[in-house]
Amino acid sequence: MKLFNSLTGKKEDFKPIEEGKVSIYVCGPTVYNYVHIGNTRPMIVFDVLRRTFEALGYQVTFVSNFTDVDDKIIAAAKKEGITERALTDKYIQAYEDVRRALNLLFPTYAPRVTDTMEQIVAFIKELVDLGYAYEKDGDVYFRVSKIESYGQLSKIRLEDLVTGASERVEENTLKENPADFTLWKKTDEGIQFDSPWCQGRPGWHTECVVMINDIFKDGHIDIHGGGQDLKFPHHENEIAQSMACHHHPIANVWMHNQMININNEKMSKSLGNVLWAKDLIAQLGCNVYKWFMISSHYRNPLNYSEEVIENVKKEVAKVENVVRQTSLYLQLQNIEETQIDQDIYENMLVALQDDLNTSLALTQILECVKNLNQLMRQREKDPLAISKMYHTLLKMCDTLGFVFKGVTMDEKTLEIYRSWDEAKKVKDFAKADELRILLQEKGIL
Ligand SMILES: [Zn+2]
Repeated sequence: MKLFNSLTGKKEDFKPIEEGKVSIYVCGPTVYNYVHIGNTRPMIVFDVLRRTFEALGYQVTFVSNFTDVDDKIIAAAKKEGITERALTDKYIQAYEDVRRALNLLFPTYAPRVTDTMEQIVAFIKELVDLGYAYEKDGDVYFRVSKIESYGQLSKIRLEDLVTGASERVEENTLKENPADFTLWKKTDEGIQFDSPWCQGRPGWHTECVVMINDIFKDGHIDIHGGGQDLKFPHHENEIAQSMACHHHPIANVWMHNQMININNEKMSKSLGNVLWAKDLIAQLGCNVYKWFMISSHYRNPLNYSEEVIENVKKEVAKVENVVRQTSLYLQLQNIEETQIDQDIYENMLVALQDDLNTSLALTQILECVKNLNQLMRQREKDPLAISKMYHTLLKMCDTLGFVFKGVTMDEKTLEIYRSWDEAKKVKDFAKADELRILLQEKGIL
């Protein structure tokens, strides 16, 4: 497996910390609203990454959190007139509905910040004791100047941050240095927690580090993923805290996916072009949605437009049609063999092992569809060759997390289907028509 590492700026051979195992952490959502199309790109990309590792025989531990404490959550709960817990429960549920609708694997662990509060407070206390953090009027800040490698991930220089402070970092006169970031924030509104400093809540950057610490030995994992927009300050600040406690940058590989544009424009509330994932999935279906999402490499921007989607629909229909026809044919032939063409399948894994070349993998799927169509069109069909190509196609689709299913007929329907096939062969068109209507009614044709 070769992966592009944002930390080194290079495509590198992947070497797991522990032989045969992979640990992956992907920053989860702040649950104060429904997820939009942009939020689902990392969900899908890192699901494909996980499935690829599993297909290669690795045992994967996949963690993605829920940020259920935040100013936006407090504000949204107030607006909806419910408690923060009721609000976050609602949007976590909605998030999991999206995950299910997209046939994404569930994380091994999905911790919530509110369930990790004790560990978060203990971790911040440790940073204070070590001299990497300081308290001012109840707030606790991280002392960025203590981290020599600060900026390694985002390629941002501390000096530039300090001079251009107001644009890149929170303005706050309590801080020793404008680049210092909040670990604990004093609050007097909404959900609050006890700490040695004051009633308040943790800073976002500290939450992910603690959840990783909580689950993985020495807070050290193979891969940390997230959207490009999280590189700075979020991931840079996660790394800073880990450097202070563990002297390593959390993950050996940092991976970032690019953003999604809508009709070549940035998606934003002010432009009014936000696409909610739940609506779009309902409209397009899981396969079209995911095909679109991985049609371009994860490190390239992805553009959503009617035209692009129309094209994707055609490609997905090609797969659906051949799977449907072939599954009916194989039942008619009574073929139950499920062998696959290992060479074709492994070729797709090779593409995925090249920093997740999903667009090539999709091309290979379409190639397989073409082969299968050719086999199905032959006058003298070879049922075993057809079965092999069919199961290869299904396995390729399954590895990418698609849901393409053949049609299954019960005994009675199969009987009708056989008679219909026979009537066509002997050119008894009246009978064939009659049976065709029956099959159409059953949704088979
Ligand atoms: Zn994070």
